[in-house]
Amino acid sequence: PGLRQVAVLGATGSIGGSTLDVIARHPDRFRATVLTAHSNVAALAELCTRFRPELAVIADPALEAELARRLAAAGVRCDIASGHDAITQAVSGTLCDTVVAAIVGAAGLDSTLAAARTGKRLLLANKESIVMAGALLLEALAAGGGELIPVDSEHNAIFQCLPGGRPNLAASGVRRLILTASGGPFRGRTRADLAGVTPEQACKHPNWVMGRKISVDSATLMNKGLEVIEAHHLFGAAPDLIDVLVHPQSLVHSLVEYVDGSVLAQLGNPDMRTAIAHALAWPTRIDAGVAPLDLAACAPLAFQQPDLDTFRCLALAFQALRAGGDATAILNAANEIAVDAFLAGGLPFLGIADLVESVLTELPPQAVVDVQTLNERDRMAREAARRILRNAC
Ligand code: NDP
Ligand code: MG
Repeated sequence: PGLRQVAVLGATGSIGGSTLDVIARHPDRFRATVLTAHSNVAALAELCTRFRPELAVIADPALEAELARRLAAAGVRCDIASGHDAITQAVSGTLCDTVVAAIVGAAGLDSTLAAARTGKRLLLANKESIVMAGALLLEALAAGGGELIPVDSEHNAIFQCLPGGRPNLAASGVRRLILTASGGPFRGRTRADLAGVTPEQACKHPNWVMGRKISVDSATLMNKGLEVIEAHHLFGAAPDLIDVLVHPQSLVHSLVEYVDGSVLAQLGNPDMRTAIAHALAWPTRIDAGVAPLDLAACAPLAFQQPDLDTFRCLALAFQALRAGGDATAILNAANEIAVDAFLAGGLPFLGIADLVESVLTELPPQAVVDVQTLNERDRMAREAARRILRNAC
């Protein structure tokens, strides 16, 4: 295989950092040609000094001059651009054949779509974009002729347990997809226990170190809800064929059950570099720097049913998926506002599910026509969520 040119979107984040770690281990296979960040200009400049990309993009235009100053001081000569559209342009052009979509939230939608449309190999971490625009993203992918390899560990696991390509599940003898969930930091707690929990407690995940937004999503189980929606689109599985199983150790990353009773699982230590390395090198395998799994030291493996009454966000995600249309985009937008408010101290933990539910009720689903309408509905959902928050205070 030749040298792959990789655009790392969200390079300064948790997935971005893990991706660059894998790339650094294989300079003969991968080169980071485009690095992007939102506002962390110091971290972006440092990454540019280390990885020498062709182009660095800072999403906040006010910080372009500061980035230029830092890169000049470090003696780094690469192109510099700024603004949301510059990320989309960088993805679409000839600087990369592979795009790691690791921006957090709906802010990643345009660049994810652009990678699909232009036939790049799309390594999808940014689950919010497929939750928002599932069918549109798959259409763009088909039109562009590229391929999508899931980076989200559960979907990467399922991808590994399915026959190659995008198989027809029924024809392949698949009976169910089983997504595992760690249960997050509040597994086993009651609603009463959760009333006063803080952002610090919510962000302290037992097994994974991640960005703050996905950490809160893991604590509410909304992350698993988003992943059910993601699995529905990625693998063409009806909602009833997707199960969630709590597995606190995070060693079994997900499973596929076949009609003959076989259940295939992918296991590994909880380290995102495994899924990232798999997606980068697929269909070959490369060293990810991850320690071998010592199963004897981990036994016994534990599994249990999720508590949908306490963690209502998971039930709301299933409800939005079954409602169809753009309900999952509304769910996602409301959740982003709710998580921001919780992190800022303006909403109690249990209020996250309440706010998402209120916005879903206020904006019944409409058919998805195109990206413009979808963005407009996303904006309306955010506005509704902010208004409900204001009125509650
Ligand atoms: P982080 O918060 O650690 O990183 C987010 C990255 O996106 C940063 O580089 C940030 O830049 C950039 N960014 C944020 N907002 C914008 C914006 N408006 N425009 C452009 N860039 C922006 O997140 P994670 O790495 O944890 O997660 C990234 C995505 O991957 C999420 O969708 C998450 O759900 C998914 N994911 C993450 C996993 C994990 O283990 N972390 C596992 C599976 C999926 P800056 O640093 O400048 O703010
Ligand atoms: Mg996941």
